[in-house]
Amino acid sequence: MQIRAESVRSLRDHTFDVCVIGGGATGAGCALDAQLRGLRTALIDAGDFASATSSASTKLVHGGVRYLEQALRQLDLGQFKVVRSALRERVRMLHNAPQLAHACEFMIPSFSRWESFYYSIGVRLYDWLSGSENLASSHVFDRDRSVTRFPGLRATNLAGSVLYTDGQFDDARYNLALIQSFAEAGGRAGNYLKLISFERDAGGKLATAVIEDQRSNEKLLIRARIFVNATGPFSDSIRALAHPGAAPRLVLSRGVHIVLPLSAPSDSVALLIPHTEDGRVIFAIPWLGRLLVGTTDQEVPDNRESAVTRGEAEFLLRHLNRYLIQPRSCSEIVAAFSGVRPLVRHAQAQQTKRLIRDHEVEVDQQSGLVSVLGGKWTTYRAMAEDAINHVQRSFGRPVTHSTTANHPLPGAEHYCPQYAAELSTRHGIPLDQGQHLAQKFGTLADEVCAIAQREPALWRRITDSFPAIEAEIAYSIRGEMAITVEDVLARRLGLQFFSWPHAAQAAPKVAQHFVREHGWSEAERAAAVEEYLGKIRRMQIALGLSSEPIP
Ligand SMILES: Cc1cc2nc3c(=O)[nH]c(=O)nc-3n(C[C@H](O)[C@H](O)[C@H](O)COP(=O)(O)OP(=O)(O)OC[C@H]3O[C@@H](n4cnc5c(N)ncnc54)[C@H](O)[C@@H]3O)c2cc1C
Repeated sequence: MQIRAESVRSLRDHTFDVCVIGGGATGAGCALDAQLRGLRTALIDAGDFASATSSASTKLVHGGVRYLEQALRQLDLGQFKVVRSALRERVRMLHNAPQLAHACEFMIPSFSRWESFYYSIGVRLYDWLSGSENLASSHVFDRDRSVTRFPGLRATNLAGSVLYTDGQFDDARYNLALIQSFAEAGGRAGNYLKLISFERDAGGKLATAVIEDQRSNEKLLIRARIFVNATGPFSDSIRALAHPGAAPRLVLSRGVHIVLPLSAPSDSVALLIPHTEDGRVIFAIPWLGRLLVGTTDQEVPDNRESAVTRGEAEFLLRHLNRYLIQPRSCSEIVAAFSGVRPLVRHAQAQQTKRLIRDHEVEVDQQSGLVSVLGGKWTTYRAMAEDAINHVQRSFGRPVTHSTTANHPLPGAEHYCPQYAAELSTRHGIPLDQGQHLAQKFGTLADEVCAIAQREPALWRRITDSFPAIEAEIAYSIRGEMAITVEDVLARRLGLQFFSWPHAAQAAPKVAQHFVREHGWSEAERAAAVEEYLGKIRRMQIALGLSSEPIP
């Protein structure tokens, strides 16, 4: 990736064909697609890349068995097509970054023969819709085999289960890999650059974005022939900047997750809880050494960031515990996060859980703004392809072929399942460190290790029970545009999603690296640590957890 200061300079100095606003999954996908089609492209985000919804997902690369059920119940061909298209994209996501996305087994327990039959039809249909892109065939288990496969499952009244396979991924790092791929293709990206207004040409079309650098407070202008609004839950506000009075199109739906130690129910199979009190599903998924439980679905008036509450965590655990021999409790929560889904309103849908996760590309005829609305992580690439097709049509040019369907992301080249073990042997590091580095960086992990070879002190672990090493901090700051403590601990290393106490413990060390790399003063260092610890403390308090950094 580029150095941020250089990137900001080049954003100011050039006129671009396309300027993408928003560096989440949708924006990163659009920018990469446009740049690969030969359009000179800029990408900006008001915060860090992936800092909004795109790092707060359930980490599923899926067609959505729940959406398939909705399609069946409502006999809705449109929904079938959305599921089918997402299943096609699922394979592409796994193929383009195998270090970050892989297959995972999901069990749906059933409590009557009718339920067993119903779920088995559902997963077989899911297999069938996947066609040649199916990850693995589903299975129907009786009660004994279900319990053998999933030892923590409560057997009382259990009739059996079905097991199907879907994809799972590291959303934040996948997003960063897209940005990196975009930069390698010659695109210019900058984080902490917020669009605050537009300037127009004589015909009223958008010509210049007025940007405020959120770090220096300086203003800069980015000139482009077309602007793509890929701001997810913020899209209506950008549409209103381009076209004052434009009617809102989005419905916002909040979803939360809690993270628990992975002691039960199973360390490899995920659980799909098929019914909640509000008629949706909840997942309990082994994820990078933890158990991720979520999510909720609650319509909210705006996308203000807010901490996961005790009530939300209790809701998730109440449902999970009905299926477990050993109930889990709120006091075990080690981390949590929330996000806001950007859903496009469908005329007949009253509830957000009934809104299909399809996308829409809107071209505002007055201003020329292209907005990519709705969708889901799994379909980011197809959404981007659609959006850039619209961009080329707006230019009055023929639509050229999108090459992103088969475009390995950085770290994917020469990646193989043995890579972690080979990396460990090559550098003489423990296997858990090799696995962690391979899962986060793919084959670029050798570049991280090269830093530690030059500065052996950076082989040190950041905290005791997490395998990340200090060289990763240096790599994130030097090469991945991390400019705050949270950028490093949350989205680049993943420690904040693994354990708040350990992330809090690591914060001073991360800040010390910024002193070395960016010349932070002592006051800046102390303020950054205090700000980060304050955020962790507020999140712990909202969940009613001890606010002590380390229990
Ligand atoms: C709880 C939850 C669980 C989910 N689980 C899954 C799942 O398992 N699988 C799946 O496929 N999908 C899932 N989704 C959906 C998926 O996460 C989203 O569809 C996707 O991340 C949206 O990406 P985005 O880039 O459109 O939005 P975002 O990731 O929100 O990105 C928008 C970006 O725009 C930036 N921005 C806003 N205003 C400005 C401005 N003025 N100037 C510059 N930048 C600006 C923001 O800083 C932000 O980074 C889930 C969503 C939620 C909420």
